[in-house]
Amino acid sequence: MKRKIPLHTQMLIGFVVGAVAGILGNLFFGGAGWLEALVNYVAQPIGQIFLRLLFMLVVPLVFSALVLGVVEIGDPKSLGRIGGKTLGYVVVVTALAVTIGLVTVNVLQPGRGLPPEVGNAILASSAENAGAIAAKREGVSGMDLLLNIVPRNPLASAVNGDLIGVMFFALMFGIAAAVLRTDGTRSFLGAVQGIYDISLRLIDWIILTAPYAVAALLFAITAKLGVDVLVQLARFVGTATLALGIHFFVVFPLLVRLVGGMSPLEFFKRAEPAILTAFSTSSSSATLPTTLMVAEDRLGVPRRVGRFVCTLGATANMNGTALFEGVTVLFLAQFFGVELSLVQQITVLLLCILGGIGAAGVPGGSLPVIAMILAMFGIPPEGIGLILGVDRFLDMCRTTVNVTGDLVGAVVVSRGEPDAEVPTVEAAQG
Ligand code: ASP
Repeated sequence: MKRKIPLHTQMLIGFVVGAVAGILGNLFFGGAGWLEALVNYVAQPIGQIFLRLLFMLVVPLVFSALVLGVVEIGDPKSLGRIGGKTLGYVVVVTALAVTIGLVTVNVLQPGRGLPPEVGNAILASSAENAGAIAAKREGVSGMDLLLNIVPRNPLASAVNGDLIGVMFFALMFGIAAAVLRTDGTRSFLGAVQGIYDISLRLIDWIILTAPYAVAALLFAITAKLGVDVLVQLARFVGTATLALGIHFFVVFPLLVRLVGGMSPLEFFKRAEPAILTAFSTSSSSATLPTTLMVAEDRLGVPRRVGRFVCTLGATANMNGTALFEGVTVLFLAQFFGVELSLVQQITVLLLCILGGIGAAGVPGGSLPVIAMILAMFGIPPEGIGLILGVDRFLDMCRTTVNVTGDLVGAVVVSRGEPDAEVPTVEAAQG
């Protein structure tokens, strides 16, 4: 009987095969015409098709996820206060998470080390990207970046890959749809839900081709750059894990204790089933039933609060994902020698906060968003190939942070609600 190899193992195999073949090619045949042809006419196009498939989904996915997310947060009648508290929690804690990620990368500089020309060499063979990137590098001013948040024409933003314009439009659309509960809006929201579901199914299919894309992209990169690139990659994994760890082991306990009033140790003990499920499935959505059970039965969060915060959180409150998006974008910027000014980094921060809301709670859900943010800043999206091979492990870690963040949010939001039975420290003492 044929045993099916899990997808993440296939991706790892693709990574190793691509990297080993590329490194050997670089060592023994570096500069040979046939190797260059193999990279340019076989490996690059395969990788490009995969990236294009990811790009293809960005607009429908981000638009639908944001509209639905906002509608759930913003239902004014039934959930006014809880909705307000949740929205505040999501924005503040996600911003904190991304900031931790960005600071860690700025301090550790995991992407520096290779001379920038080397990273840029990857582009030389991809004329299409090289052109686009040269154009982007001709400085966009900080003011333009801020003004561009508000699109003149949302369709033009979508066509030009201006993600932040699309996000802003979706946010406004979602807010209006939440306020306006007419029959027309309801059927529109049904259609948006359909777009979301279909996009998720397409992601499933595209991710199935990832092992081949990973092999091709890794081959193309290592054939050009040799073994050094893997050292860089190890530094990336270390940096991302450290930043996720800080959020998980420092920020969450502080929030639980100071805002939620609960003992962090007790919290982690009770949250364990959800934490383990998140770690093993890499999917906030797949973990949702466990998250709900933990919130209501083990943490004493009122059902109405738990259901709202955790359901919404599974798609819209993604601390780990937002942090990871920031770390990846900055790492790849360093890697390819793209300098990001402070204003640009602040834009990355905003995009990642929205990216945390706009990413789907499935394995690899943040990849389309990352690909798009990279393109916006003129960073070669091929860099995604570099991180894909190690993405499963990082996905497990960031999903754990995402789901734990939902539970922390549920505890924090239920503070002061009359029907909360959260075992607070004061209750234990009193
Ligand atoms: N796997 C993540 C989640 O489900 C999303 C992502 O960052 O890829 O929470």
